[in-house]
Amino acid sequence: FDGVTKTFRSLRPAFTLPSPTVPLSVASYAFSLLPCPLPSHTAIIDAATGAAVSFPDLLSQSRSLAASLRAHLGLSNGHVAFILSPNSLEIPALYLALLSLGAVPAPANPASTPAEIASLVRLSNPTVAFAVSSTAAALPRHLPTFLLDSPEFHSFLTSTATSTATRAAEVRQSDVAAILFSSGTTGQVKAVKLTHRSFIALAAAVYAMRREGRPKAMLLAAPMFHMMGFVLALKGVVLLTTTVLMGGNRAGATEMLRAAAQYKVTEITAAPPVVVAMGRPEVVAGLDLSALERVVCGGAPLHPASAERFMARFPRVKLSQGYGLTEGGGVSLSIGPDECSNVRSAGRLHYNVEAKIVDTVTGEALSVGQEGELWIRGPAVMKGYVGDDEANASTFDSDGWLKTGDLCYFDHDSFLYIVDRLKELIKYKAYQVAPAELELLLQSLPEIMEAAVVPYPHEEAGQIPMAFVVRQPGSNLSEAEIIDFVAKKVAPYKKIRKVAFVDSIPKSATGKILRRELSKQALSSSISR
Ligand code: AMP
Repeated sequence: FDGVTKTFRSLRPAFTLPSPTVPLSVASYAFSLLPCPLPSHTAIIDAATGAAVSFPDLLSQSRSLAASLRAHLGLSNGHVAFILSPNSLEIPALYLALLSLGAVPAPANPASTPAEIASLVRLSNPTVAFAVSSTAAALPRHLPTFLLDSPEFHSFLTSTATSTATRAAEVRQSDVAAILFSSGTTGQVKAVKLTHRSFIALAAAVYAMRREGRPKAMLLAAPMFHMMGFVLALKGVVLLTTTVLMGGNRAGATEMLRAAAQYKVTEITAAPPVVVAMGRPEVVAGLDLSALERVVCGGAPLHPASAERFMARFPRVKLSQGYGLTEGGGVSLSIGPDECSNVRSAGRLHYNVEAKIVDTVTGEALSVGQEGELWIRGPAVMKGYVGDDEANASTFDSDGWLKTGDLCYFDHDSFLYIVDRLKELIKYKAYQVAPAELELLLQSLPEIMEAAVVPYPHEEAGQIPMAFVVRQPGSNLSEAEIIDFVAKKVAPYKKIRKVAFVDSIPKSATGKILRRELSKQALSSSISR
């Protein structure tokens, strides 16, 4: 901690990244870290089918695919490719191919409704979409769509057309590498621009962590449209770790643990429900998880009681939290062997990350032990939101600090603790739910005068969306009718799961909904049902 600038810096030694002006895609950078010849062990195995691809095959597939996508679809630098698919063996090769061309993957949750997809397509402005047979129908008709489960795509993975393609355009590190979707601290879902430089910084940091231990086999059950899936996929490649891939949002905790036992997984990175499940004897009975060395829990708060139950059942397995946010470029804190002993903390600052803790009222930077909003700065932080000057201006300060919207403090040993979430975001099983989106839907119901949506604590899901509703005079609209109305319009993870009827929604003098006031009300018994 630098008491003069009130800046917290990583204890991990800063390392030099490639000079920012050198043209370089993250794919080329990741490949440059690999030994030659490549080891022939399994890179990715699909837990459901047992189908696998080795490291040499993954690399040659991604190169063939890049050449074919350029030759047949004309994809090159700056073209956005919308992706709507569950996790599959094809996705890592597709990401690597697009990234190496400078084309921009924009992956979305395949559980989204057609209306949600249409709005994500408008935000990201793709020239092409990649989908699977079961998701393609939800895409807008005007978008040329290519099926990942078609024979043609599989022929692209093995095609030898590389030599006929013309030279690829140069990819600059400052070019946008990927677009991920996040609602940030307020409002509707936005398109987050992450550059090749962001991912190069991320890959370099993951690579540096190998000194602190390299997992032999890692479970990737996080959806690959989310930053966590992106980070883990990159980690698998640069550390030459075997990745056991699961279906993303369809994989329940029990299914994940079964796969972990079957494939002798040594490391699981997952959202809190998995840690909760591992504390339950009926879930883990009969499973041989003896290969498991480490569980990293991230994406949402981990309840201390769940951590304790886990540690009592698996005393040999190191449990730690991970923290990051899409806008921050994935991982802001890291956990090596030194940090594993402190599960209440979310870790220490990652390589090349700086932080400030800022008083939310005065804007003053605070010291060790004081609670305030966490601001971060570093090479992995996003470039900004697509076409949203207002959100960009309120998310960054003039010195390039990213405001995370999380209330945190550092202790004297440089550990960071997450106390609360200041931003509007609700996290249901680590999936983002933007209250503003649900409020807009509720307000479209004529019988609703006003509505506000806030997080309500839930042990397994972390939080569930709860609606406060002011009905029009004389309306008998019921909780079930409201829940049903919203459920028909949104992806399942965004459903409203609890409703309270109130006479008014508390607001600030400037008309902003006082969400924390409502969250407090939700926990008290004074609300009418
Ligand atoms: P996302 O962009 O979907 O990864 O969401 C990032 C947000 O998830 C952070 O800003 C936090 O609010 C929350 N989050 C991530 N990791 C943790 C954690 N370990 N504990 C509490 N909240 C977390």
